[in-house]
Amino acid sequence: MQTVRTPGSARAIARTLKRPVGLVPTMGALHEGHLALVRRARAENASVIASIFVNPLQFGPGEDYERYPRAFARDFELLEAEGVDLLYAPAAERMYRPGFSTSIDVGKLGTVFEGARRPGHFTGVATVVAKLLDALEPTSLYLGQKDVQQTAVLRQLVSDLDLPTNVVVAPTVREPDGLALSSRNAYLSQAQRHAAPSLHRALAAIAAAIASGVTEPAVALAAGAPLLEAPLEWDYLAIVDPQSFAPCERCEPPALVVAVARAGATRLLDNVTVPGADGVDPILTPERPLRTRVELRGPA
Ligand code: AMP
Repeated sequence: MQTVRTPGSARAIARTLKRPVGLVPTMGALHEGHLALVRRARAENASVIASIFVNPLQFGPGEDYERYPRAFARDFELLEAEGVDLLYAPAAERMYRPGFSTSIDVGKLGTVFEGARRPGHFTGVATVVAKLLDALEPTSLYLGQKDVQQTAVLRQLVSDLDLPTNVVVAPTVREPDGLALSSRNAYLSQAQRHAAPSLHRALAAIAAAIASGVTEPAVALAAGAPLLEAPLEWDYLAIVDPQSFAPCERCEPPALVVAVARAGATRLLDNVTVPGADGVDPILTPERPLRTRVELRGPA
């Protein structure tokens, strides 16, 4: 696996890779959620690029940019073992040189829920991903459902700017008890960790209510909200339209339930989808192994 640290060298080497190319952007401190994305990209592409960059633009003042876990040597080994072809790990000083001032604002989607609590967060995400897509020119961009609003923001970015990349969203990987894997789970105390799976139980109960025909949002939310265990507290909990993130007035499948639970200073993000009557999930991208695609195309 080659490692590159500047956009110019990243672009030069990325252009030599066999296509299709899958890109998995990360902030490092890798766990099975990241690795599932890498494996999915590996199965669906001839080449895989991973990036590791703790992006200062997407952290607000007082957030955990400095203490965000960094584990480059271990991450390198994990990515190499997964057969990643190229690792792009730029330095913050190179990504944002003195005088850097361009930013990408995706509009309304970036201002609600996470965007309302973390002003500027999605502008930081959209800006860095635009830089990664420009440098690496991947065929497909692999994202996790766990950060579902981020997937919507980046779909908007790719669509609005006509970027020649497919957005692929893969399911959230969870601990056996239901807690979504996150690099920030390392911040949890024992009591917080013990209560943390109740977040997913609450969301699953709300999804089950919607799937069983409950359309009144207050009624559906009441089926799950009380399941959250102390010391966790709701930051937000809502049933939204999977494209616009507008809270639904009459909630019918397909639907998306988004939430953040606060565990002290740590915010635990999670979401669940309710597929439509046709069984189609409103967020996830169906798997498309490379072998199938080659076979479908037939002999050259
Ligand atoms: P991060 O390193 O937190 O920026 O995440 C990099 C990518 O991994 C993003 O697309 C995340 O949505 C995805 N990701 C993080 N945690 C999980 C998880 N538990 N399951 C699936 N994808 C995840």
